[in-house]
Amino acid sequence: TRRPLIAGNWKMNGLAASAAEVERMIGGAGPIASAGVDLLICPPATLIARLAALTTGSPIAIGGQDCDPRPNGAHTGDIAAEMLVDAGAAAVILGHSERRADHGETDAVVRAKAEGAHRAGLLRIVCVGETQAERDAGQAVSVVARQLAESVPDTATGADLVIAYEPVWAIGTGLTPTPEDIVEIHAAMRGLLRTRFGAEAEGMRLLYGGSVKPDNAAVILNLPDVDGALVGGASLKATDFLAIAGAC
Ligand code: 13P
Repeated sequence: TRRPLIAGNWKMNGLAASAAEVERMIGGAGPIASAGVDLLICPPATLIARLAALTTGSPIAIGGQDCDPRPNGAHTGDIAAEMLVDAGAAAVILGHSERRADHGETDAVVRAKAEGAHRAGLLRIVCVGETQAERDAGQAVSVVARQLAESVPDTATGADLVIAYEPVWAIGTGLTPTPEDIVEIHAAMRGLLRTRFGAEAEGMRLLYGGSVKPDNAAVILNLPDVDGALVGGASLKATDFLAIAGAC
């Protein structure tokens, strides 16, 4: 059985003062972790070391939002997976739609980054999801299938690969797919992973992301093949993040 994972993606939000919010999260995380739920916060890279130190010994793990595929070198401004580990990260989000759109990340680039994360020993959270135009054209399943096939490396295991299904049109909009639509995509993803990875696919957690809030979390998190959530805006507030995690 898969342990639910509630991951917060802070995106480009958070300053040193945000440590107070994480302290409040630590304060409320005990019962949720005891119930078997994994908790992860992915702050901007500037806060990883600080928050990793703060959360040491707590049920909250810290992750990055991106990494470079290469281990080191003359690549100004880039951060290697090994550096995330060195700063205290246990996981990394890869191929978020904002990076695919803002930085031209292709499936091949995301796959290379996922290989880099594997080399460094990070849990990899690979994001997939269709745009509104693709959904309107009836291509949601085929787009996600292509992203899954081409962004996920052959080295993926149940222990080190998480997929986040984030429909682009649901991110930051307050819109979510219907439960039926989420179930359709998650079942399709599980089937594709089974075909490719066999029994290993049973351990791979499939998160839903896109406008997850305390008031819709219980419905979404109890759908079949939904093993947790990747939460944006609502992960910036301890009360909202804990309420979502408590709905598992
Ligand atoms: P929101 O929860 O703000 O819609 O963001 C979702 C997301 O992109 C998480 O990675």
